[in-house]
This record gives sequence, structure tokens and C-alpha cells, in this order.
Amino acid sequence: KRLADLTVEDTTCGYCAVGCRFDVYTDGDEVLATRPTEPEKSPVNGISTCVKGKFSYDFVDSEGRLTSPLVRDENGEFREASWEEAYGRVVEGFQEIQEKYGGSAMSMIASSKATNEENYLMGKFARQVLGTNSVDNCNRLCHSSTVAGLARTYGYGAASVSTEDFEQADAIFLTGSNTTEAHPVLGTRIKQHAKEGNELVVFDPRKVQIAEYATQYTKVRPGFDQVWINGLTRYIIENDLYDEEFVEERTTGFEQVKESVEEFTPEYVEEVTDVSEEDIASAAETIANNDRVLFGWTLGLTEHSHGTENIMAMANLAAITGNLGKPGTGVSPFRGQNNVQGGGGDMGPLPDNFPGYQSITDDDNREKFEEAWDCEIDPEPGFYTTEMFLAADDGDLRGMYCIGENPSLSEPGSNHASEMLEEMEFLVVQDLFLNDTAQFADVVLPAVSFLEKTGTFTNTDRRVQMVKQVIEPKGDAKADWEILQDLANRMGREWDYSETSEIMEEMRQLTPIYGGITQERVEEEGGLQWPCYDLDHPGTERLYEEEFNTDDGKAHLQPVGYGEPGELPDEEYPFSLTTGRVLYQYHTGTMTHPEEGIMDYNDRDFVEINPEDAANYGIEDGDLVTLESRRGEITVPAQVTARIGKGVVFAPIHFAETCVNQLTDSTRLDPDARTPEFKFSAVRVSPY
Ligand code: SF4
Repeated sequence: KRLADLTVEDTTCGYCAVGCRFDVYTDGDEVLATRPTEPEKSPVNGISTCVKGKFSYDFVDSEGRLTSPLVRDENGEFREASWEEAYGRVVEGFQEIQEKYGGSAMSMIASSKATNEENYLMGKFARQVLGTNSVDNCNRLCHSSTVAGLARTYGYGAASVSTEDFEQADAIFLTGSNTTEAHPVLGTRIKQHAKEGNELVVFDPRKVQIAEYATQYTKVRPGFDQVWINGLTRYIIENDLYDEEFVEERTTGFEQVKESVEEFTPEYVEEVTDVSEEDIASAAETIANNDRVLFGWTLGLTEHSHGTENIMAMANLAAITGNLGKPGTGVSPFRGQNNVQGGGGDMGPLPDNFPGYQSITDDDNREKFEEAWDCEIDPEPGFYTTEMFLAADDGDLRGMYCIGENPSLSEPGSNHASEMLEEMEFLVVQDLFLNDTAQFADVVLPAVSFLEKTGTFTNTDRRVQMVKQVIEPKGDAKADWEILQDLANRMGREWDYSETSEIMEEMRQLTPIYGGITQERVEEEGGLQWPCYDLDHPGTERLYEEEFNTDDGKAHLQPVGYGEPGELPDEEYPFSLTTGRVLYQYHTGTMTHPEEGIMDYNDRDFVEINPEDAANYGIEDGDLVTLESRRGEITVPAQVTARIGKGVVFAPIHFAETCVNQLTDSTRLDPDARTPEFKFSAVRVSPY
């Protein structure tokens, strides 16, 4: 068929948080193609999409799609059930936990794949219907340390920049980001910018592909980022390269930061991090000598037991060099899942915050939501995702409602998480697929993908964009918001939303930073960036142009000292393991594994190992290798490559059979954000 003969509708990508817009071409309920929308409707991606945005839609029709609810039969096996029967089981299970232990024994994992409207309802459902504050999402596993670190320093825990700022920067400083694989369209923009003669500095333990385009690449020892960042800050202060006027007028705490970085001399930084004095000097001069510098990072900086300190160190660096609030400057944590910014944080399915980061411990906020939702809300924050499985072990959590996530594979120390899921007295899983977590469920509810429903996503630069239904739901599957509404009403509430724009309307009236955002405006204006306080507000392209979001309007610089991983290599476990993604896969693979074309490129996890280390252990490229930590072991083929440093190994996170989270640790958490230390585990390596 010709494209002209097909039905076409524009929507927003459901894979990563770059937030590409594209037109979807359908024939009946079959998705046949996507094409980037007209550039003016897609400011983020222009004329590009990546391989996933272009080709990864077979999952919608794949054999594994759940098309009806599943309940356990008398033998403990799943059988198909009507919605009525499944809802009956769910209500009975939830109410039994509430009656036996109280609502706070229930927990809920919300989904960063779902829309903003659905995530708003997930937070509301947890507090109003289940009576628990233990509601959280995958943000806890990735950027919650970014949110904590930036909020403490600047006031907002989000990117200060717009995607367009990348093109206006004179220099881009990237760390802990495999941009071309994890955020491909953004990676292409940055590569192009570098090719045009702008500076690109990359600090990373792996020479990731984007480093090939860098004017400076520096290999760092993983786990000690705040040491080299403090070293850069010290060099800049020591050599009077900082922006005195900006520091004087727009920040507080400079003297304390100056004092706190004194010990990070070039010699000390080199000793701890392997970053040479020349590399510190060269990066510091690049930052200082360019008018507009933009700082980007992802999980290499955040997924540590001191991730919040890493972020504050980076926030100090951007502020003392005056790189905030002007075109081409700012901080940009690249968010991972498509809607982790909006659904994972802004909408407040969080243990400690209502939508728009309104703290639940504040009496006024609590009163506002108690009145709007007609319920009492406990002032004590609930458990964070990473704490839920530890709390289950202590008997403090007995039930879980898990939507669109797969903690059995994605949690640190996944063997422990799986054990706890199995021990839950009542577990409901809501997903497109019978994922690994669902094997422990009492009831499984079939949900729909972003192509089968309407709502909004918020991308990595705070941009709220429309998601439109382009095909009918498969079988009896329903949108998350419809399932939540059906359950709420069966549990004594009176929800009455007929479409998701009504949910958005309710949310915006309770949430100042989204106060002017309606679906109608988002559609008409092609996206709106928060904060957007009222219906006349144009949205905010760039944060901190005038002032920071703090009591006194200034950036509060934070002294950050030394930090190291909670577990260090030793004789028994001599390697540092770091984990991450590859271009052709997405998280635990539920959406990408059904794609034959994608699987042709990558159908298994592997381990990258340095040639010298490989030679020492008699390992050749392609050999099977066992990786073992104090928590578990996996066997994967070796990729022998100099892109990884000596003593470090890297493994991706995408396949259940070789689930690398068996090796990571569930107990080493950032004390502020509770982010786990995915980027550092001590392991040993041996030929299989
Ligand atoms: Fe989708 Fe991200 Fe690829 Fe854009 S870069 S098409 S948002 S996966």
C-alpha cells in the first residue's frame, strides 16, 4: 500500500525521553510505518527518529500480548477470566490486606511508560483508595539523585535547558552518558554540533561512541566522580576562571564550596580517579574559556550510593562558571523512559510528594489534596521503590500493585526482589505482557500501549506533548486509567472521567507548575514546557533566566566532599562492574524482544572486558565468561575491547536469562534519593 492510502495520526514516541514526535501510518489496526512529523510540530527531533522510533512496533501485535485478565485457578495456574471476575479478585485481595494490616501495608509501583494522566491517577489511587504513601516508580532507579541534587542547589530537580540549547552551546560537557545508544536522536544532534567545530568534552569510564567526536575524551575510574568534578571546580577557583559576577549576584555558599574542594588537588584527583592533571586543566580551560557551556549527564553520574553528591558537585560547577539561564547553557540530565519526567516525577506517584513536587509533609499541601480527593493522608512518607523489597523482608509490606514495570529483573539484587515478590500476600501486575514479575502475581490485568490510548508525556526538557490513540486496544486490554477508575469505583469511590483531558484538568488545578497546561493547549501549541502557571503563561523554555527556584532566588551551592562506592574491588572480587543499555534494546526487553529485526542486531547480553585483562584470564573475544559478585552470577559472551578501562567490565541489562541485576546490590542506596549503586559492583571474572 502507498502511504497516501493509509490513516495517519501524529503522536509522541513511547521509548525514550528524548520525546520524538512522529506520524503513525495505520491500516485498520495494523501499524505499518512511522515518519517524523513536520519539523515545526517536532522541535525535539526535527526530521529524525532512531531505529526504535522507526521500526519497533511489532510488539503491539506480538503473540505475547495479554488480551484478557488472568487469575490463578485451584492448581495455582493462570487461566483467562472476565474483567468482572478479575476485578472481584483484586478488590478482595486489596481489602484483605487493608483489613489485616492497614492500608500502609500496600504498595504500588507506577509506570514511567504510562501517560501523565494515568500516573496522576496512580498517585491518587494509592493515597485515596489503598490508603498508602508507598507509591513510587522507576525514577528511583535512575535519576532520583538528579532530582534531589538539583532541587537542593537550584530549586527544580529537572533539566534547566531546552533541546534547542544544545545547538547554541559553544561547548558541551558530557559525563556518564552513552548518548548515541541511550538517547539516539539527541546523540545525533550533539555529534553534528561537534562536527561543526564546537567543543565536546566527554568524561566516562567507557570510550562510548560519542567520545569519538569529542575534542577531549578522558577515561575515568568508575565510582569516584565527585572527586574529579571537585578537582575541576578547585582548578577553576584556584586559577580565577570562575564567573565572579554570577557567583556574587546569583549564588550563596561559594566560600564553603571553595573550602570543601581545597583537598582535591590535581595529584590527589589523579591518584584516586586516574584523571591526569593535564586532563583536569584542559577541561577546566574549555569550560572557562567558552561563553556558553551545557552540562549533560545520565546514569553514570546518578546510579551510585553517593549519586546526589555527584549531582550537587556538577551543579556547583555549572553555577560557579555562570553557565545557567542563558541560551546554550545549563544542566541537562537526559531522562530514560519516555515519560519518567512527567509520569515518574511531576505527576507525584511518589512516597513523599504530591504532583508538582508538593511535599506531603507540608500541612497545607496535605489539606489541599485531602479536600480534593476526599480522604485522609498520612503525613509520613511511604517506602521508596528500592526500600519496598527490604520492607517486605521486614514484614512491613504485604501487598503490591505493580503497573508497567518489571522489578523482578530491574531491581538491584534482583534475586532478592524476586523472592520478596513471591512472598507478597497479594500481588497484582498490570502490563502489556506476562513479564517476569507477573509469574509471581495473583492477578494479571492486560493494559495497552501508547499507540492504543490518548494522553500526554513529558520529555526530558520538561515538554508536555500529546500522545494519540492510533489503533484499537488489543483484545479486552484496557488503558491504565480505565482500569484504575473501574477498581476505584468498586472500592467505594466515585471516579467519573470519560476522557483523559478531564484528568489533566483536575491535575492542573492542584499543581502550580502545570497550572496552565491543558491537552487542548498542548495540541494547539505543539507542546508546553513547565513551569506554566496559568492559561496565559507561555511555558518556560529555559529555567533560571531571572532567578532560581529558592527562597531567596539564588542558587545554593553545596559543599561536597569525598565519596566512594559502598563496595570496593578486593582480591576475591577484583573487577568493577558497571551496567547500561544498548541501542537496539529497551530495558528488560518486553517491547523490543518481540521485534525480529531488532533481535537480528542484538539478541543477548555480553560483557565488555579490556584486552589486557582478557589476556591475563585467557579470554578471547566471543568466549563465554562467568561474572560473579557476592550476590549472584551470570554467564555471557565476552567482547574484548579497549573502549573499557583495565579492571572494569561492562554488561547490559536487557535479557532475563542473563539478568545482570543478580550481581548488583539492593542494600547500597544513596542516603538522600535511595538510588541504587547500579554503576558499581565488585565482581570476579572467569572463563566459563
Ligand atoms: Fe524514540 Fe528516543 Fe528514538 Fe526518539 S531517540 S525515536 S524518543 S527512542
